[in-house]
Amino acid sequence: MNMPLFVDDIKALGCSFECICAARNKLRDLIKYIKKRRFDLIAVDYTFPVLFLNELKKLFPKSKFVIGGNGFLDTFLKSAIDFAVIGAGRESFLKLAEALKNKNDVSGIPNLFFRIKKNNRTIIDYSGKNVNFDLKRELFPYRPFLKWKYIGFTRKDKVVDPPAIIAEFGCAYRSRKLNHSYDNLSEIVLSRNTFSAKARKRIMDLFKERLRGGCSFCTCPGRHVFLPVKETVACLIEQAKFLQKTYGFKSFVIGSENPFRFIEQLIHKIVKENINLEILAIRSRVDWVNKNKRTLLKVVGLAKKNNFAISLQQLGFESFIQSDLDAYNKGYKIIENFKAVELIRKLKSTAPRNFQDGGHGFIGINPWITLRDLEKYCASAKHMQFLFDLYHFGNGLVLYDSCLPIYQKLKKDGLLIKHKTDLDRWRFKDKNILRFINDFHNEFGDKR
Ligand code: SF4
Repeated sequence: MNMPLFVDDIKALGCSFECICAARNKLRDLIKYIKKRRFDLIAVDYTFPVLFLNELKKLFPKSKFVIGGNGFLDTFLKSAIDFAVIGAGRESFLKLAEALKNKNDVSGIPNLFFRIKKNNRTIIDYSGKNVNFDLKRELFPYRPFLKWKYIGFTRKDKVVDPPAIIAEFGCAYRSRKLNHSYDNLSEIVLSRNTFSAKARKRIMDLFKERLRGGCSFCTCPGRHVFLPVKETVACLIEQAKFLQKTYGFKSFVIGSENPFRFIEQLIHKIVKENINLEILAIRSRVDWVNKNKRTLLKVVGLAKKNNFAISLQQLGFESFIQSDLDAYNKGYKIIENFKAVELIRKLKSTAPRNFQDGGHGFIGINPWITLRDLEKYCASAKHMQFLFDLYHFGNGLVLYDSCLPIYQKLKKDGLLIKHKTDLDRWRFKDKNILRFINDFHNEFGDKR
């Protein structure tokens, strides 16, 4: 929901506000802190465990809870959280805060799910009003509040990451169709006893949106919202200037899957506007980085000339073998991963002061993997050890959302493990795979 962006708007409603970041292993300290503060409304991130959210809800029955963000759905459905905002959050969150403050009805607030009581049963309802993402409406006026309260962090790990400057919402790859292994997925079934007709329709629409394409595990919005290059650059410059003037940041992360569309123009403008830049972090897809190799080399050249560094991060490599990429619907050949590793290696050695490798995404082996493919995976891993350790037999596949194509395929194939009080999980189709992984870890140890 981009909460820090709404702080001024919330204050204008006459409410006070705090942003809290709690270490995962110090959630007890978070509870102690909330006890002292007695918040009326607590907005939570979707990555909190369901059990913890339910505990919070029990401990603070007078507070209302709201959840948002791309992967909110299953955490909301499985917890006792009162409200969930789907998609664009600025207007919805403010209207919710206002309605709660004035004790008004919330049922007309756009993008809002809420719980109602009907015949002694709790039903999930939806306002039926959808507001799409609009970049300017969500971001501006741009006055993010970044003076967070940190709980459970030592001074050392409290290092504040450079903030993202947002160039777009969603991802252009969402228009890439799912491959044939995702054919004939049945529609999700939502019980009439648990959902109102409006809530059912909104969740079905989300499911259809997910089925239109993109990576099969990804919860990012289906509609790609972006501005023409000149406007995108102006929008990013306004954000960077504010962050530098107000908080002194000299490093920024560009919030876009395809920064190559505007990166050269952006750097020229940053230089022209005398913005003091140390690191400009970009993320993208592996195949798009390879396709835009020339632009990347040019941009690292500009970094050299202007004395800053480009950090390339969050490329979703996901795996070492093709069958994994296909299961995750990455839509490219595995060779692209190896090419990107070579490119990163080359840039690190030729421009060590102006290029950084910022860490990347990796899921690991897929639930349908065969023993033969697992052997290939082990053999290929050595090419990638430059970026990833061999222990990545893992299954970093998190099922945030039951509308995801991969979730529905796992369900169809009987590989889903349902949990009432946690996100659902999955198991391997071939039981021998788990035995192989355990043997491997016993022999070589788990480097984690
Ligand atoms: S994982 Fe990345 S490339 Fe794939 S759909 Fe999501 S944002 Fe786009």
